[in-house]
Amino acid sequence: MKNKKIKTCLTIAGSDNSGGAGLQADLKVFSLLGVFGFSAITSITVQNSKGVKASIPVSPNILESQINAIFEDFKINAIKIGMLQTKENVEVLLNIFKNYRPKNIVLDTVLKSSSGKYLLDKNAIESFKKLIKFTAIITPNTEEAKVLTGIEISSLDDMKFACEKLLKLGAKVVYLKGGHMDFKETIVDIFFDGSKMIEVKYEKLPVKENIHGTGCVLSSAIASFLAKGENLENACLKGRKFLQNQIKNAIKLGSRYLYMPLTQQ
Ligand code: PLP
Repeated sequence: MKNKKIKTCLTIAGSDNSGGAGLQADLKVFSLLGVFGFSAITSITVQNSKGVKASIPVSPNILESQINAIFEDFKINAIKIGMLQTKENVEVLLNIFKNYRPKNIVLDTVLKSSSGKYLLDKNAIESFKKLIKFTAIITPNTEEAKVLTGIEISSLDDMKFACEKLLKLGAKVVYLKGGHMDFKETIVDIFFDGSKMIEVKYEKLPVKENIHGTGCVLSSAIASFLAKGENLENACLKGRKFLQNQIKNAIKLGSRYLYMPLTQQ
């Protein structure tokens, strides 16, 4: 098979041994969307459908070596960043991006799991904010946006205000997810690039409350579409549509819904 047209994505993320989130989910998404996936593991988590039981970060040296090994050998069209866990790991990325400025970085601002475990140490938040200026897109949910901006978010207007504050941290685009808001039938996400603000609306599906890995799937889908040459707006809109289809196809395994990414979309 000729590989001239194959686009590539690198995920820098934690391992979820239950397969619904983390780099395992990212690699499934990359394959489904037809891009070749590379990975650099930041942390090994221990989890199942009931929640995250433990996590061990990889050493900063090993994280740095994994990323350098990929960069020195392959052309990377987009990068997705997920769970980083430690300040040291955040600093590894800051140092790499200071010397080498890859385009198309999608930062999923992973702070905590839906089951309540911290996936980024509290002492890492300030360094983490510095990472944002190297990225094309950040994809916070409203809980994460609260931590990053310090503002309360309880209405659509608050979401829009939060997007303006988040953009000042330095990303080109903010895609703020509304899934944690108290929306009844329609979930509203906000896309904001500094001039254009779009309300992205989707039906709230019943499984949504008990599903695992939605943030990972969305951010890796956005990275895949960027790798394939879509602009920031289209990558977000197509990524969100892809996520909705994945939620519709989710299956129950153990006590939560997980993605069953079988079909090409
Ligand atoms: N495990 C890993 C490795 C993750 O990256 C994430 C989220 O990004 C989670 C678990 C938590 O996923 P959720 O909050 O959807 O349960």
